[in-house]
Amino acid sequence: VHPIFDNLPTTIFERMSGLARQHGAINLGQGFPDDQGPLPVRQAAARALIEGSNQYPPMRGLPELRAAVAGHYARRQDLSLDPDTEIVVTSGATEALAAAFTALISPGDEVVLFQPLYDAYLPLVRRAGGVPRLVRLAPPHWRFDRAMLEAAFTERTRLVVLNSPLNPAGIVTPDEDLALLAEFCVRHDAIAVCDEVWEAVVFDGRRHRPLITVPGMRERTVKIGSAGKLFGMTGWKVGFLMAAPPLAKALAAAHQFLTFTTPPNLQVGVAWGLDNHRAWFDEMPVALQRSRDRLTAGLRDAGYVVLDSQGTYFLNVDLQASGVTVDDATFCERSVVEHGVAAIPVSAFYAEDPVTTVARLCFAKADATLDEAVGRLAKAR
Ligand code: PMP
Ligand code: GLN
Repeated sequence: VHPIFDNLPTTIFERMSGLARQHGAINLGQGFPDDQGPLPVRQAAARALIEGSNQYPPMRGLPELRAAVAGHYARRQDLSLDPDTEIVVTSGATEALAAAFTALISPGDEVVLFQPLYDAYLPLVRRAGGVPRLVRLAPPHWRFDRAMLEAAFTERTRLVVLNSPLNPAGIVTPDEDLALLAEFCVRHDAIAVCDEVWEAVVFDGRRHRPLITVPGMRERTVKIGSAGKLFGMTGWKVGFLMAAPPLAKALAAAHQFLTFTTPPNLQVGVAWGLDNHRAWFDEMPVALQRSRDRLTAGLRDAGYVVLDSQGTYFLNVDLQASGVTVDDATFCERSVVEHGVAAIPVSAFYAEDPVTTVARLCFAKADATLDEAVGRLAKAR
């Protein structure tokens, strides 16, 4: 076994969902909604499964899906993308990330990453021979500044990985920070890999601004999206990567030997949804914002200090400020085993120097589930 994967533990999401099942706990750990996603979109995929093709679709994705992706981002983010040369359909955002790291990193290249970081990044970057340069973000604002970027970027910087909205922090990178990061990318001739799977889940009238639209970034950014997150069907594993033609070509070359294609019927369902189920993109964040507010209010009433959540399915509890004396891992272990609520310790998103005082809770659940969880957590402080 390669040393990077030797003894690599099972992911915190899998582990916590396992503990939740084992203890019959409410699972506010792993991020997924407790409903099954929009029925018409599932029906479109079902029709395609029965009546459509179940053979290999084109390697870069069905033309109708690539056209639908271009239409969606033109409407929602003012982006102009050529479906033939700038969009590749992948098996989830995870595969798009793997394709980007495989295609763009040569051994010894430095990759700037922000902690807290999504668990897939580091093993994939390292396996590609990349040398991580970690920027540590911390609550309550989770922001970077010029000095942090000065310390991380060098003449060997090849890539920077930006996740905004940021899982688990729930923040949206402000425009001025995007501009700052763009300045460093241009100065160091670096490519940005933007994990924007949470782009549609932003609250309080915010909009998501993609880094690829910042001046200087159009030719040096890979933007990654996920239909699983756009439609709240996390098991679908249909993703897309968007980049200028030479970058898209390089990533497609890697994609063809990772999965080659993605199930055609799911692609038809996603294309149908992007074209025809548009009201969803206005309604879904409003519904989730209500759930965020409900869980926030309940937890505050129970004496917890809740951090600001601007996007994603998640809010964070500042355990230390809430008077909890144990660290996040201990709190989450006790919470699932003794109190029947699974949460994710935010320290799991750090490779070094972890923040150990914050627990992440998923609020994409029915009101009654959130209320019951609050009742149980009230006893966990
Ligand atoms: N990036 C981030 C930040 C995520 O939170 C997730 C999963 N929720 C992914 C990537 C993976 O997306 P997908 O399921 O489309 O592979
Ligand atoms: N993205 C999901 C989360 O953050 C988990 C995905 C997974 O289980 N790998 O909860």
